[in-house]
Amino acid sequence: MSARSLGRGRCPRCGEEGSVVVKWVGGKEYVYVKHGRTWHYVGPLDRVDVNELLAKPTTALPLRAAGEASTPSGIMGSKPGSPGKAAAAVLGLLLVALGAALAAIAVVETLLLLYLAPAQIGGVSIVAEAGFSVTLNGTDTVYAVAGPGEVSVTAQGAVFKVLIAPASYLNATWLRAGVRFAPIAVEEVQHLLDMFHGEYTSYSARLEPGQALLVWPCKLLASTAEVSFSLAVAQPSPQPPPQPVSIAQLVAAAILARTLPRLLIAALLIAAGYLLYKWSKSS
Ligand SMILES: [Zn+2]
Repeated sequence: MSARSLGRGRCPRCGEEGSVVVKWVGGKEYVYVKHGRTWHYVGPLDRVDVNELLAKPTTALPLRAAGEASTPSGIMGSKPGSPGKAAAAVLGLLLVALGAALAAIAVVETLLLLYLAPAQIGGVSIVAEAGFSVTLNGTDTVYAVAGPGEVSVTAQGAVFKVLIAPASYLNATWLRAGVRFAPIAVEEVQHLLDMFHGEYTSYSARLEPGQALLVWPCKLLASTAEVSFSLAVAQPSPQPPPQPVSIAQLVAAAILARTLPRLLIAALLIAAGYLLYKWSKSS
């Protein structure tokens, strides 16, 4: 009694895959499908369409002793996974690779952020700009703008004189209250009026902290006259950050908020890929 394997095929008895084996018994050949130790009889070789059985025909193997052919792990080395499992293995490895790449990117980005963050925070400057117009009804009002900042003044239908004076020249409670612009009656700055100069319709100046620009529209040229002010303030961030610890904490929190979800996703991908791969290798 001898047997030879024709290759892998689908068993018509149970529907499972197995080795299609032809056994020589008593001068006749019979077809079996072998699943490990289980043999399913299909029929005599002359009445079975072997080609239909063979899912992936392989070259017929040389004759083997029946005992050897029936060892559980036989011809192909092991029970190979189904095509689905092979795909699962590939997908699993892909997921692991994707997760690892994502984790690497998140880590590199975090390092970059850590490196860049202090520079970004130090370089921030806040620019606030305010603009407004005042309709002129006479020449008995002086307009004061307190520094620091870039002030531009333009007049329509009027000319004005200017004076840049220390804010302390003004008896100005409004300045101490943090107000940057105020109309003042001419009488209040009577002592300064000789020092005003020019006959401008447009003027701009850079004011230092503690300085004020006084604008006196001294001549109205039209029935409707107005003067416009704009004040741009650039405030570099305080040189020593007032609370370095809390800023560091903010940066760390921001980095964590960005990075942590990505690391979590990466870990999930790696875990899912690993499980998929492990499952694909299981029998
Ligand atoms: Zn079977």
